[in-house]
Amino acid sequence: MKINGYELMLSSDGTFKLDGGAMFGVVPKPVWEKYFKSDVNNKITLATNVLVIRKDKNVALVDLGMGDKFDSKLEKIYEINRTKTLLQDLSEKGIRREDVTHILITHGHLDHTGWATFNRQGTIEPTFPNARYFIQEETLKEIREPNQKTRPNYNYLNFENLDSQLELLNGDEEVFPGVELVKSGGHTKGHQIVILRTGNSVFTYFGDLIPTSAHIKPAYVMAYDLYPMDTFSKKIELLQRAFEERWTLFFEHDPVMPAAKITDIEKYSLGPVSI
Ligand SMILES: [Zn+2]
Repeated sequence: MKINGYELMLSSDGTFKLDGGAMFGVVPKPVWEKYFKSDVNNKITLATNVLVIRKDKNVALVDLGMGDKFDSKLEKIYEINRTKTLLQDLSEKGIRREDVTHILITHGHLDHTGWATFNRQGTIEPTFPNARYFIQEETLKEIREPNQKTRPNYNYLNFENLDSQLELLNGDEEVFPGVELVKSGGHTKGHQIVILRTGNSVFTYFGDLIPTSAHIKPAYVMAYDLYPMDTFSKKIELLQRAFEERWTLFFEHDPVMPAAKITDIEKYSLGPVSI
């Protein structure tokens, strides 16, 4: 989609699987199964929708899929399925690694940060050599100081040899004209969302605050969320504005409806948007 000099695209690093119950928290299975069919192990298939924002010389990527630093144990857990990697998909869209100027990371979990670095024959290097990587300082703290509950959600290799390219934020920040990072908390303490405003149009990438269109209702909070009541109240606040201002919402993990607008705020109904 092109709008007012901005180009928006969705790229992908394939799909992976997570436990359906964990993805939907207190929502009963008969309810969430209307949206996601589960396999014999109760797992559901999730997308890795990476938002690309291009404006003049700025090329921003929002989140970075699963990457190439999985050992066989992790591969078995996540069942990554891709015919091409994020880098191959970007290349087909005319974007080389060297072209990327801004990496906007919602939070540090391994399914959002995979291509922050890559494995060059055993050496971990930044994947995007000319990019600044924008994360909340609290997110880096959460990555560097995990506890027994949070450790399995991180892959420390995704942030190895990357320090000189990190932009550590404390709160909201406009990264280039029209593109703002807004700290949301909820899913993790340092979680941030991306809001693009141009003319009367607003586009919002929710990261794991609202991972799929099936999580649109405020009470549909993942069991992974560390601060579920913060997720709940933030969703109510943001979705009210999203309805009033007709925002286009991006859902990072939705394999069917990656972008939508709210058509009814009482029922939290959605209508798909093609990008
Ligand atoms: Zn997450």
